[in-house]
Amino acid sequence: MKRQLNKIKVRILPALLCALTFAGCGFGHAASGEDGVTKEIFAMDTYMSLTAYGDTAGEAVGKAADKIHELDRMLSTGNEKSEVSVLNREGTVRFSDEAMKILLKSLDISDMTGGAFNPAVYPVMELWGFPSGSYRVPDRDEITAALDNINIQGIVISGSKVTAAEGMKLDFGGIAKGYASSAIMQVFEQYGVTSGIVSLGGNVQTLGTKPDGSLWRTAVRHPEDEGYIGVVNVQDKAVITSGGYERFFEEDGIRYHHIIDPSTGAPARSGLVSVTIISTDGALADGLSTALFIMGEDGAVSFWREHTGLFDFIIMDETGKIMVSEGIADAFESEYDYEIVRR
Ligand code: AMP
Ligand code: MG
Repeated sequence: MKRQLNKIKVRILPALLCALTFAGCGFGHAASGEDGVTKEIFAMDTYMSLTAYGDTAGEAVGKAADKIHELDRMLSTGNEKSEVSVLNREGTVRFSDEAMKILLKSLDISDMTGGAFNPAVYPVMELWGFPSGSYRVPDRDEITAALDNINIQGIVISGSKVTAAEGMKLDFGGIAKGYASSAIMQVFEQYGVTSGIVSLGGNVQTLGTKPDGSLWRTAVRHPEDEGYIGVVNVQDKAVITSGGYERFFEEDGIRYHHIIDPSTGAPARSGLVSVTIISTDGALADGLSTALFIMGEDGAVSFWREHTGLFDFIIMDETGKIMVSEGIADAFESEYDYEIVRR
């Protein structure tokens, strides 16, 4: 099957993305439409759109926004008062129940992915200048030294107290948005909402179906142009994407992106350019999108075969080949050719 990546382009205008996800249209206000309410906020370094339907929608999206800001204050490495920043600066801190939950989930995902997901990769992120924006390509010795500080065995948990070995720093950037979107689903449910959708910087999570009973149509962005890889029809699912195109710098014509392979200390070069995970568990979907991007096609496919039922994927490699796991294949629509990966 010959792929004609540059010939058949799916070109869907931004306005259509709004139609597809019912998210991300406008900014900075709460808008009511039909019986739905949308609130647009900026948090966790990105634009977010929170939509709920029904009588309690207004209250639910307000509380959801509060929840996001609370998580941002707790987790942000850029906020010196956050629990994570205190740990990174002082080497020890008492975590709130929720920060502990996120740490334990991160360690679980790290474990299940053989260390591809690593919440302690921050010293390497700093070396490449990602947090500060002062980007640079470090030399081998610097990378080797930084890699000494990312061993998660150096994290010791005793009750609510977390201690990290000297030189270690945590960063939940690879899981925070997915954790947050799942938390919002819980807030929506607490307020009796049965239909809602959120987009946290393009990472989507859905509650129930659309009010008319049809599935949510969620677009997966194309890494190279303004179009889309395809659309996935879902209910009660998170649809979360990792791609090198999301954050990167270039030096001497080489692109260095923000997803670090903990085995090399450098941006992952796995041959994949986009990894979307579909799962009921937003935090898992987020962690796995990062981890499977690092694993590459073979690693991602065999990981999925060991964990079918937990999640599905849509991946694209650097030649434009798209692969979709069996469980989501019927729900996926694309104008590109794609292969279905079977169990
Ligand atoms: P995502 O967009 O979900 O793939 O997350 C990327 C973000 O996760 C980066 O900006 C870092 O904050 C963090 N990160 C980078 N590499 C890793 C890794 N190997 N494991 C966990 N988090 C990572
Ligand atoms: Mg992620």
